[in-house]
Formats: sequence, C-alpha cells, structure tokens
Amino acid sequence: MKLSVVIPCFNEELNVAPLQEACMNAFAGRVSSYELIFVNDGSRDNTWEALKALHQAGRCPVKVINLSRNFGKESAMYAGLQKAVGDYVTLLDADLQQSPDIVMEMVEFLDNNPDFDCVAAYQESRIEGKFTSWCKKTFYRMMDKICDISLHEGASDFRTFRRGVAESLLSVTECYRFSKGIFSWVGFNTHFIPYVAQERNAGTTNWSFWKLVKYALDGIISYTTFPLKVSTFTGLIMAFLSLVYMIVVVVQKLAFGIAIPGYPTIIVLILLIGGLQMITLGVIGEYIARIYIQGKHRPLYIAKEYRTYEEK
Ligand code: UDP
Ligand code: MG
Repeated sequence: MKLSVVIPCFNEELNVAPLQEACMNAFAGRVSSYELIFVNDGSRDNTWEALKALHQAGRCPVKVINLSRNFGKESAMYAGLQKAVGDYVTLLDADLQQSPDIVMEMVEFLDNNPDFDCVAAYQESRIEGKFTSWCKKTFYRMMDKICDISLHEGASDFRTFRRGVAESLLSVTECYRFSKGIFSWVGFNTHFIPYVAQERNAGTTNWSFWKLVKYALDGIISYTTFPLKVSTFTGLIMAFLSLVYMIVVVVQKLAFGIAIPGYPTIIVLILLIGGLQMITLGVIGEYIARIYIQGKHRPLYIAKEYRTYEEK
C-alpha cells in the first residue's frame, strides 16, 4: 500500500461522499494504491450511515471506524493512524477545505526527496478577524520563546509523512494531545508548503474562540513548565519588594518619626498576595490535574465498530 489517508469526521454527513469523489479523481493514475480511512468521531448527524454506504459501495479501498462517542479530532486521528498501513500517511480534514490535489503534491515531493520524511501544508493567508489572527501570531511567538519545541506558524495537521513518522506519532500516547507540538517533538525533516484553504463544503466549523484558547493553554502546559517558573519569579520579586518596603518603613519611623498609615496598605497587600497565591495554586493545579488524568492510563478512544475492505 502506497498511501493511507486518515480522515477524522465529526458531523460531516454531506462532506464524506464528495471528499471520496475528490480523492478518487486526484489520485487516479497518480498513486499506485491508496486507502481512505474515515473515523467517525461520535457525530450527531448521519455521518456513520454515510460512511457505511461508502464502504458498502466499495468504489475504492475504504476503512471506516466508528468511535463510541466524540473523543476530539486528536484522538480520532490517532485511531485512524493505527489502522493505516501505507508507506505514506496523510492527515486530511473531511470538509474539503484541504484539496486532495495538494496531497498529490506532497506525495510527489516525498518521492523526489528521500531526505525529507514529512511534508506539512501551512496557510499563508487566512480569512479571519484581525484579533484572532493577532492572538494566533502572539501564541506562536510565545511558544517559540518559552518551549523547547518550535512550531511553524500556520502549519496545521494537514500533512503527509513516511511510515517511520507515523510509528513515532503512535508511540506518543499522552492523552492531552497537542498535535502541532507532537509533530515538532518527534522531529524528522519536514518540508513546509503554502496552501490556500477552501471554503468548507458543508456544515460548520467545530472551533470557537474559547475552544482555541483552551487548545492553546493545553499546548503551553504540555510543552513547557514555564508558567511554574513565572510563579517562582513572581514570588521572589514580591519577597524582594516587601523587604525594600520594610526597610523604608523602619527608616521612616525611626529616623523621621513619620506615622505609617496602615489600613489601606494592608488591605491592598493582602488582596494582592492572596490573588497571586491563588493564581500560583491554579497553575500548579493545572499540571497536577494532567498528572492525575494521565495516571489513569485510559485509552485515547473506544472504537465501537471497524470495517475494512477485502484485499484484492
Ligand atoms: N473533527 C473531529 N472531531 C471533533 C472536531 C472536529 O474529528 O471533535 C474533524 C472535523 O470533522 C474535520 C476536522 O476535524 O474533518 C477539522 O475540523 P473543522 O473543520 O471544524 O476545523 P477547522 O477547519 O475550522 O480548523
Ligand atoms: Mg475545516
């Protein structure tokens, strides 16, 4: 098998058939053999029925996996990767925003460049609000500064990679999966190509601004303990400042006999220190919560049903 295409699907009933069509058109005569692996990530519409119909029709080799509930795109991709047997593996969205023609470009690049193991597509320009775009830019810059890994700005999960990379991704079994970080962490030579995302074929995006913020926080906590260091430094600075203030107060009282106005200062300081302590506890709590969840060693997903094709 030359190419496995892993497609996570959440509420994509109207997209899966057009996507199969687009893939068949793009791959025909250009790849010796390929398989499409659709993962139904607990969709609330008729995606699973649509997938079963595709599998039944057998127009091209199709594997379908039905997860027992919505586990999130990261887990769905993991489920698909486990079933992929191709020399090359592609991660592709189901909504036709990412054209299968670009997958062919990626495959051809890997064919012609044995030194590279992965081709990732990134969006050069995005159609989104100025504020969102600024937040994303700031996030990438900050990650670059505070994390051991470096992320390519705008690069998504839309990638094609060799078998070895797929095996490495599968060996990372952490449950807080921040795939941009995992790709960077496993290493390998990656080539980045620009692409323009198409409009969604049907349905709506599953990302809201707050989901993105949560995802970004997951990324930071998964790849750096920098926030803990911030707490330590804040503590040190507070301790130093209070020492300076103590000296000032003593000198004022002893040398100049100035009465120290107490009440407002004390209230402000108690609130400030209390606030800082709560923040620090919160940050520590975030890390401990992750240790707790990871410590349960739950599987990343539960598959209810899996159908493969007959080898010819
Ligand atoms: N997806 C998924 N599980 C989820 C959310 C999304 O499998 O919980 C899939 C979705 O069906 C699509 C891909 O992940 O194939 C990207 O999702 P979406 O189009 O909503 O994201 P965007 O393109 O807006 O980043
Ligand atoms: Mg999309």
